[in-house]
Amino acid sequence: MSALLATRDLSVTFGRGADEVRAVRGVSFDVAEGEAFGIVGESGSGKSTVLRAICGLAPVSGGRVALDGADIPAPRRPDFYRRVQMVFQDPYASLHPRHTVDHILSEPLAIHGFRDRGARVEAALEDVGLGQGFRFRYPHQLSGGQRQRVAIARALILEPRVLLLDEPTSALDASIQAEVLNLLDRLRGERGLTYVLVSHDLAVVAHMCERLAVMQNGVVVEELTRDALRRHAAGQDYTRTLLRASEGFRKERAS
Ligand code: ADP
Ligand code: MG
Repeated sequence: MSALLATRDLSVTFGRGADEVRAVRGVSFDVAEGEAFGIVGESGSGKSTVLRAICGLAPVSGGRVALDGADIPAPRRPDFYRRVQMVFQDPYASLHPRHTVDHILSEPLAIHGFRDRGARVEAALEDVGLGQGFRFRYPHQLSGGQRQRVAIARALILEPRVLLLDEPTSALDASIQAEVLNLLDRLRGERGLTYVLVSHDLAVVAHMCERLAVMQNGVVVEELTRDALRRHAAGQDYTRTLLRASEGFRKERAS
């Protein structure tokens, strides 16, 4: 299989000596072009660190990350960010509070030397279901869901092939969560995007992804398909515990 994105024995260690935390230990996976690959696991299992390591934002202590079969050099070069973009969990922290939406969306275009910035900003707002009326607003004038739409627009404005999505809806109300997940799903279909989506909620990952890895304590303990998950064919007790937790959560919400 020729993977678009691959990690091999990826390891990340924070701190030294008594403070050392081996957050990610020997993680390997392949993601094919156009695929949505999920990473699920409880809080602290290393999911965000894997995404940050792919982006060059975490101290990689071993292993490799490859795009289109070629190892990505560290530090990441600007052209990497034209191909791979990340959406962070917290839409309140990830947008500069003193910048308008127009400024936030124009900035990556300016950095990468695009000339037709106004037209691209307008198109990006339409693509994520925010009209032109949002263009000159500030983040504090937006709801959580609208902010996350701006963050998605910013990630897509350079037309990357891969989006790394770190709990993109965890900070949102349940009803808004579904809207944003459906938006992401539609954008992937329309553009043939490749996703790596991280969530502590197995229901979110199963809804969005064809294949997933289960992480515990920095290690991938299991990789399985969505179909296997639906057949309750998980091989690990830990995966079954996550499955029960997400089912229980959905029942609670429904009642
Ligand atoms: P998850 O996203 O699955 O909740 P993280 O990747 O955020 O987990 O964290 C994995 C482990 O790495 C945790 O033990 C966390 O405390 C630690 N960690 C994450 N970022 C840092 C950091 N910048 N410095 C030190 N430890 C960190
Ligand atoms: Mg995290």
